[in-house]
Amino acid sequence: MKTTGDQQLVKRINRSVLLRLLRQRGSLSRAQLAQESGLTKSTVSLLVRELIEEGWFAETGLAAAQGMGRPSTPLRLDGSRRAMVGVEIGVESLRVVGVSVTGEVLCSAEEPLADRDPAAVCREVAALVVRAQAELAARQATVSGVGIGVPGAFDEATGTIRFAPNLGWRDVAFLPLITRALADAGSPPVAVHVQNEADTAALSEYEFADGEAMDSLIFVTCGVGVGAGIVLNDRLFTGLQGMAGEIGHSILQIDGPPCSCGRKGCAETFFGARALGRDADAARGGVYLGVVLQNLWTTFNPGALVVGGPSCERYPALVRTAGDTLSAYAASAGVAAPPVRAARYGLLASAVGAAALVLHHELRPMHAPAAVGASGACAPAETSRVSLRNLPSAASH
Ligand SMILES: [Zn+2]
Repeated sequence: MKTTGDQQLVKRINRSVLLRLLRQRGSLSRAQLAQESGLTKSTVSLLVRELIEEGWFAETGLAAAQGMGRPSTPLRLDGSRRAMVGVEIGVESLRVVGVSVTGEVLCSAEEPLADRDPAAVCREVAALVVRAQAELAARQATVSGVGIGVPGAFDEATGTIRFAPNLGWRDVAFLPLITRALADAGSPPVAVHVQNEADTAALSEYEFADGEAMDSLIFVTCGVGVGAGIVLNDRLFTGLQGMAGEIGHSILQIDGPPCSCGRKGCAETFFGARALGRDADAARGGVYLGVVLQNLWTTFNPGALVVGGPSCERYPALVRTAGDTLSAYAASAGVAAPPVRAARYGLLASAVGAAALVLHHELRPMHAPAAVGASGACAPAETSRVSLRNLPSAASH
C-alpha cells in the first residue's frame, strides 16, 4: 500500500516520540514505550524494529521478566551506529566533528580557513565533511545529516546568509552553494541544515542534556563577536530573519565606545575579544557580561545559562566574574540566581551543536525546514491538526 504524505508525517512524528522518550529515560522496553507514548503495541513494535535496523536504537540484552508475560528487552539509544556531522565555519578556521546520537564526539578535525570567498569556503567545508563521512563509515556509523554553524545570521526561509560581518558576507545564497560543493566533493545526498554558530552552540547543550528536564536554555558565546543561542519552549528561537540573540549589539552605555556595527556602547565594545585584548581587564569585561546575563535572565527566565567561546578559554575570570555579578543582582532582588555554567564541549560547542541541529530537526518533524534530498514535505498549516494522542494505527505501515 502506498502511504500518503500525511501518513509519512504521522510516522515521522511517532518515530520522534519514541526517540525522545528513550533519550529522556535512558532505557525502556517496547511495552513501556507503548504505555508512555500512547501508541499501540503493534505500532511501537514495527517502529522499534525499523529504528534498530537504522541504527537509532539498540537492545541492551538484559531481558527482565515481567510477571507472567514474556521477558521484555530494554532498549536504549545506539551511541555507535547513527551519527551526524557538524561543521563550524569560524572567522579564522573550520572545525568538523562526527557526533553520535548520544552526544559522543567520534571524530574531529580543524584547519585554517584558506580563503573567505563563499564558494572557496564551501569547497573547503565539503572536503572536510567527506573526510568525516569516510571516518564514520569506517566505524560502521550511518550519517543522518550535516549541520553547519556560521558566524552570521542565516535566513531559513531563503537559505541565505543575510550578514556575516567578520567574513565580509552579505546576502550569500549559502544552501545551494554548499549543496553543490558537497555533491562535487563526492558526498552522498544528505540533509543539510545551517544556523548561526551561537544557535548551534546552544543545541550542543540542549540536545545532549542527558535527560535533564528543561525546555529553555541560553548559550552566550564570547569571541570576536558576542552572541546568544536561545532555546525557548523546546525550540531554537531565531527570530524573523535569523537575527535573534545578537546581544553583542545590545547597548550597555548611551554614547559609549564606538562599535564595528556603527552604533555606540554595544556589549561587544566592553567584552568582545578585541576589547578584552586591548584592556586585558577581563574582570571589568566579566561585570559587563554579568549585566547581559542578568538582562537575558529577566527577559527569558531560562532553565539554564551557559557561557562559552574562545574568550572564556583565554580568560577564565570572565565566566566567574559574570556569575558573581548575576548572583549579586539576584541577591539585591531577593531571588535565587540561575546557575551559570561553562560550555561542556568547550571550543567544540558550535561544531558539536551543528551536528545536534540535525537531531533537533529529526526530533521535530512538524517544524523541519525543507532539507536537501528530502521529499514529501507537508505544509505546517495542513499538519498542525495531527494530535500525538490520536494517532491512526495505520501510521506505522
Ligand atoms: Zn554594535
